[in-house]
Amino acid sequence: MNGDGSLEQLRREGRIVVVGASLAGLRAAETLREKGFTGSLTMVGDEPYEPYDRPPLSKQVLLGKAAAERTALPRRRALDATWRLGSAATGLDLAARRVRLADGDEVPYDRLLIATGVRARPWPNPAEAELDGVFVL
Ligand SMILES: Cc1cc2nc3c(=O)[nH]c(=O)nc-3n(C[C@H](O)[C@H](O)[C@H](O)COP(=O)(O)OP(=O)(O)OC[C@H]3O[C@@H](n4cnc5c(N)ncnc54)[C@H](O)[C@@H]3O)c2cc1C
Repeated sequence: MNGDGSLEQLRREGRIVVVGASLAGLRAAETLREKGFTGSLTMVGDEPYEPYDRPPLSKQVLLGKAAAERTALPRRRALDATWRLGSAATGLDLAARRVRLADGDEVPYDRLLIATGVRARPWPNPAEAELDGVFVL
């Protein structure tokens, strides 16, 4: 096989691990499949839920206009992925190409995508944070 062929094979095969199972991770995984990736795909997320849409949380769920359970992100295609939900990635061994999970498991990868987003900053004054109507989403 020539050099280009090997590169093309690498693009389509192997093991890809996505850490962060939310909007960015989900859409990246869908795009990988769309572009012809046929290898193994593992989605690691520390939340116990499948990817959900966050904007409706503040615009609808808090107002009682929608149920939190109805905010799942629409899927654009089947992923054929292994889901490791409720498992935080806690370590990365770059040399051995392994992601360590909080439960002690290690997930090997050939390519790794980190899509862990951001954390909400808590309200700075703890007394005020206790007031009715103050939420951290
Ligand atoms: C209440 C609310 C309202 C919003 N409204 C709007 C809006 O109106 N318009 C707009 O454009 N945007 C809005 N946003 C922002 C939008 O939701 C984000 O831009 C989007 O969710 C970012 O997606 P992401 O996948 O990059 O990150 P995130 O959605 O933050 O996902 C990252 C995921 O990675 C997980 N993770 C983190 N660390 C680890 C780890 N070590 N191991 C495993 N998993 C891990 C996190 O738990 C999370 O599930 C809103 C956000 C919130 C919270």
